[in-house]
Amino acid sequence: MRAAILAVGSELLGPERLDTNSLLLARQLESHGLTLCRKAVVGDEVEEIGPLLVELFATAELVLVTGGLGPTADDLTRQAAASALGRGLSERAEIVAEIEAKFASFGMRMPAVNRRQAEVIDDAVVLANHRGTAPGLRVDHERGTLFLFPGVPHELAAMVDSALVPWLESRGSRPLETRLFKVACLPESTAEETLAPAYAEFGAEAIALLASAGELRVRLTARGGAAGPGGLDRLERRVAELMGDAVFTRRSEETLEAVVGGLLGAAGRTVATAESCTGGLVAERLTRVAGSSAWFVGAVVTYADRLKVELLGVDERLLERHGAVSREVAEAMASGARRRLASDYGVAITGIAGPGGGSEEKPVGTVHVALAGPADGSPTHRRLRLPGDRERVRRLTGQWALDLLRRQLLDEVGDPPPA
Ligand code: AMP
Ligand code: MG
Repeated sequence: MRAAILAVGSELLGPERLDTNSLLLARQLESHGLTLCRKAVVGDEVEEIGPLLVELFATAELVLVTGGLGPTADDLTRQAAASALGRGLSERAEIVAEIEAKFASFGMRMPAVNRRQAEVIDDAVVLANHRGTAPGLRVDHERGTLFLFPGVPHELAAMVDSALVPWLESRGSRPLETRLFKVACLPESTAEETLAPAYAEFGAEAIALLASAGELRVRLTARGGAAGPGGLDRLERRVAELMGDAVFTRRSEETLEAVVGGLLGAAGRTVATAESCTGGLVAERLTRVAGSSAWFVGAVVTYADRLKVELLGVDERLLERHGAVSREVAEAMASGARRRLASDYGVAITGIAGPGGGSEEKPVGTVHVALAGPADGSPTHRRLRLPGDRERVRRLTGQWALDLLRRQLLDEVGDPPPA
C-alpha cells in the first residue's frame, strides 16, 4: 500500500512553525512496511486542500491528513475533504453532546463555534480524541482511505496509537522489525566504509545511516537481505562485529553521557572536568544523567590562563612555551583536575571554537582533549581539527571528550552488558 501525508495549516508555511506531525506519521508508516510516496504542506484554504487531496489519491491509496480540525473559521479540512470526495457534511448531535460534556468537565460552557467539530463527512468513521475536542475521521472510498487527524501534536500522537495503528494491523501490515546502533565521533563515510561487508551481504535497503552532529545512528530493518527468518539477527551480529566498540549504545533514547555514567558506576570511579572552550558543556551533560552525584564530583571552567594556573596548577612555563591550546596544557589541566578535585578521572578541554582566534598553526576548530586516569602513565590525548561554526565545534568537542572517557572505561570495566 502506498501512502501520502498532508499537513494542513497556514502557520506551517510561515517562518516560525515546522510540520513535525508528518515525522510521527512517517515513522508509523515505515514501521508497518508502507511506502510513503508523497508528503505535502498546505495552508488553510479549501481551494488548495481539496485539489491536493484528489491529486494525492491519484498515487496513494492511503492519505493521512493532520490539522485544520479546530473550531475556528480558518479550520477547513473537513469541508475541503468532503467536497474533494463529493460527499456531504453534517453535524452529529451525539458528538455535540460529547464536546459539551468535555467542556462541562472543566466547568465551562461549550462555545458555539465548537459545534463545527461535530461535523462528520457522510459515511465516515468517527475517531475518538481523548486529549482534545476535535474527533478524527476515517473515510473509506473508491480510491482509498482518508484519515483526518487533529494538528495538535499530543492529540495526534494518542490517536495514531488508538486509531491508525489498529487499522494498519487489521489490514495485515505487521510492524517492521528494526535494530539500532548509536555511534559517536565517526564520520558517515567512515561508517559506510566499515560497514561495506554488511552492505555487500545484506544490501543497502536493510541498513540506514542517520547522521547528526557527532552522532550516527545505524538503523537495521528486516528488508532486502535481512528479510526472512533470522535475517535481522544475522545482520545485527555482523554489524556489531564490524563496528566493535565504536558503538556506545543500542537503545534509541540512551545518551552518550548516560552510557559514560553507567560505566563510571560499574567501575566504581569518579570524574571531574576542566573545560575551557566548552565552558562547562561536558559537566552540564554529565549532570543531566539522574544519579550523577555517584560519579561526578564537579568541574572547573578555566577560560583565562590565570585560572588554569591558579585552579588547576598548570605550570606557567607550559602556557608560555606551548600556548593554552596545546597538548601539554590539556594534559596538565586533566592531571590538575584529577588532583585538585580529587577524582579518579580528569577530563580536560582546551581549544579554539571560533569564529575568531585562529591562526595558521592553530586554526579555528583546533581542540585538545586530554584524559588523566588512575592508571600509571601520562594522560591520554587527542588533537582534533573539528569542522563547523562555534556551536558545532563545541558540540563535537563534548562528544569526543565523552567518547574518549567511555573507551577508557570500557578498557577498565570490560564489555558492557548487552542491551
Ligand atoms: P489545528 O488542528 O490545525 O487547529 O492545529 C492546532 C495546533 O497544532 C497548531 O496551532 C499548531 O501549533 C499545531 N500543529 C498543526 N499542524 C502541525 C504539524 N503538522 N506539525 C506540528 N504542529 C502542528
Ligand atoms: Mg490549524
